[in-house]
Amino acid sequence: MKTFTLPAHPGDDALARLECSPVAEHWTARAGCAQSDPDLFFHDAGHSAAHRAKAICRDCPVAEQCLAVAVRLEVRHGIWGGLLPEERRHLYPATRSAA
Ligand code: SF4
Repeated sequence: MKTFTLPAHPGDDALARLECSPVAEHWTARAGCAQSDPDLFFHDAGHSAAHRAKAICRDCPVAEQCLAVAVRLEVRHGIWGGLLPEERRHLYPATRSAA
């Protein structure tokens, strides 16, 4: 099983390494959720759906890119990179600079 580790601190180099590069433009083609029900990935789908979505994300080969995009764009809805909106909120640049 693929393991996924969040950056120890959102301000460190880890997030910088996760930035999208021109090569990463097609990362969605490898998304683990590509063949899944998109409704699983939205919070209002319920706890069971979120649990299933996170299981898909855990094995996703592009989870780091997915999370990096969500953080960069400060996406407020849905599960990205295996994290609910409230679980990645502290990673958003605006939140980090306010802390
Ligand atoms: S990490 Fe992102 S791309 Fe991968 S399965 Fe989860 S939501 Fe989809």
